Amino acid sequence: MLHSKTLLRPQADPDLCTGCGSCVSQCPASALSMDGKIPLVDPEKCIVCFCCQEICPAKAISLK
Ligand code: SF4
Ligand code: SF4
Repeated sequence: MLHSKTLLRPQADPDLCTGCGSCVSQCPASALSMDGKIPLVDPEKCIVCFCCQEICPAKAISLK
């Protein structure tokens, strides 16, 4: 668990993200917050559940 946390974290593509905020409100770990137009992840809180990537209507989130 700790291992996977350090490997991956979601990143929003500013060219694709529409700033809808769905990922922020649906993140089960409350790890996302809007930073201007795009969401920013708090790597300390993110549990790498892939929810944000799945629910993003713009497919703007990838895990890197
Ligand atoms: S992977 Fe899961 S915990 Fe991490 S930011 Fe996305 S929705 Fe939140
Ligand atoms: S759900 Fe997708 S389009 Fe909406 S704010 Fe999050 S990354 Fe951007």
